[in-house]
Amino acid sequence: MRLDKLLSNMGYGSRKEVKQLLKQKGVTVDGEVVKDSAMHVDPANQNVSVFGERVEYTEFVYYMMNKPPGVVSATEDLRDQTVIDLLDPLAQHFKPFPVGRLDKDTEGLLLLTNDGNLAHNLLSPKKHVPKTYYAIINGVVTEQDVEAFKLGVELDDGYITKPGHLVILKSAPTSEIELTIQEGKFHQVKRMFETQGKKVTYLKRLSMGSLELDDSLELGDYRELTTEELNLLK
Ligand code: URA
Repeated sequence: MRLDKLLSNMGYGSRKEVKQLLKQKGVTVDGEVVKDSAMHVDPANQNVSVFGERVEYTEFVYYMMNKPPGVVSATEDLRDQTVIDLLDPLAQHFKPFPVGRLDKDTEGLLLLTNDGNLAHNLLSPKKHVPKTYYAIINGVVTEQDVEAFKLGVELDDGYITKPGHLVILKSAPTSEIELTIQEGKFHQVKRMFETQGKKVTYLKRLSMGSLELDDSLELGDYRELTTEELNLLK
């Protein structure tokens, strides 16, 4: 790839700013000072350094976001702000996309990556990657609901859900629950509660597989996954 594109992608500024770095003799490739910003380099096999510091090239990025409400889980939208709009320009350079969707009003754990294979594996219906949600429900959630979700409920389109694990945190006219499901059907949690005549009024995803939302992330914030977290997903 072109040297200026590589450096710009890795956060060393615009192509113009990268040219300045080259002018200042700040960039070396395999130890040689380089002046030509159009030079082609192989970042995996060549040592590109800026003022002596090696540029660690990464092809894939993995971000954990605490999705805020009011933002859509898409890469583009004509009307609404997207989760991609919340990323800084450097992160956007890598062209990440959300792994699966959360509704516009849902909060919580959203993974963003440009690693198509990882995304495919996490979303594959065959893999049954469990997802856990916290929800506030308008209605009294009971042991009957726990049993119904364990057996599977028939959604409005005839789909019968796989066994879900419902934990009642508070059973009252406004209940609080945690629900773990194995699929990711459209509006699944909301539709599961609808089968029981109850309405989800607040929904937040807490985990996906073994990856848990970092609760120090404010709504709308994101960070890169640690190596340990990434390994949990592979
Ligand atoms: N289930 C829903 O109903 N909405 C979401 O955003 C995620 C799961």
